[in-house]
Amino acid sequence: MTDDREPAAALVSAADGGDPRALARLISLVENGSPQLRGVMKLIAPRTGRARVVGLTGAPGVGKSTITGALVRAYRGREERVGVLAVDPTSPFTGGALLGDRVRMQEHATDGGVFIRSMASRGHLGGLSWAVPQALRILDAAGFDVVLIETVGVGQAEVAIASLADSTLVIVAPGMGDSVQAAKAGILEIADIFVVNKSDRPGAQETVRDLRTMLAMAPHRDEGAWKPPIVSTSAASGEGIEDLVGRLDAHAEWLAATGERDRKRLARARDEISAMAIAELTQRLSVLPGEANLEKLAGLVASGKLDPYSAADELING
Ligand code: GDP
Repeated sequence: MTDDREPAAALVSAADGGDPRALARLISLVENGSPQLRGVMKLIAPRTGRARVVGLTGAPGVGKSTITGALVRAYRGREERVGVLAVDPTSPFTGGALLGDRVRMQEHATDGGVFIRSMASRGHLGGLSWAVPQALRILDAAGFDVVLIETVGVGQAEVAIASLADSTLVIVAPGMGDSVQAAKAGILEIADIFVVNKSDRPGAQETVRDLRTMLAMAPHRDEGAWKPPIVSTSAASGEGIEDLVGRLDAHAEWLAATGERDRKRLARARDEISAMAIAELTQRLSVLPGEANLEKLAGLVASGKLDPYSAADELING
């Protein structure tokens, strides 16, 4: 008799040693919404909760990948194992690493202390809020000290990623149009550290000044609250990266000292459970047989024979 958990257990123990193929397989299980995931998540649950999670967000071209690469190098210099999830909320799952990964992986190809993986989620069951936390769990359980989650643009996905991270970097660059202005809408709340990258470029000083002005106008923060610093980097040459790592360490210390880290993790677990329950419910509701069938009810509501509240009640109770 074949035990469903056997391959899962083998994968999990191989991944624990940092085996990149086992890690890739496990993350593919997430991407495919495999039934094996249940077993995997049960097995790894006791090993999770150790990794420091850093989110990197910003418009395309500001230098997220370059900064990610520089941070990987910096953490490897401290003998820390680093996982990277590059999340693209706008493209569908690819079922494997993107070209960019292979290029970026080259530098770390023989380094078992680094694992880089792209994830895209368009059209997927529960989308990002369902898949990325599970991929994160897998890297966490595999013993990575730091997990960097890189995502594009400002919007829902970015906020979702920020809620996953212990520390969120909001990255802007000079000469990117009105990047500060454009980013303004969502970033004040989510940024733990602002990074002005490409500080070798003209206009970097002005970008820093704009950010300062914006922060000064922000609503007053409570006593003892974290004040997001602004760090200037030139990721291409590595300038400012040491400073950035120092700020990340300081933020991690602050999180631990204030209990904020535990609070964030509780909130993360709450989001994770909700996303999973909603995905499961959506799935179940869509395949209900009989009168309380979603298609039938939709027909009734569309033709005005039934109101949507009653239809929803029937769907849930039927
Ligand atoms: P992403 O789209 O945000 O991931 O941005 P990338 O990391 O791909 O960088 C976009 C472009 O900016 C690339 O051509 C990088 O080489 C370049 N770049 C990244 N960091 C710097 C920097 O500090 N200074 C300058 N001048 N160029 C940079």
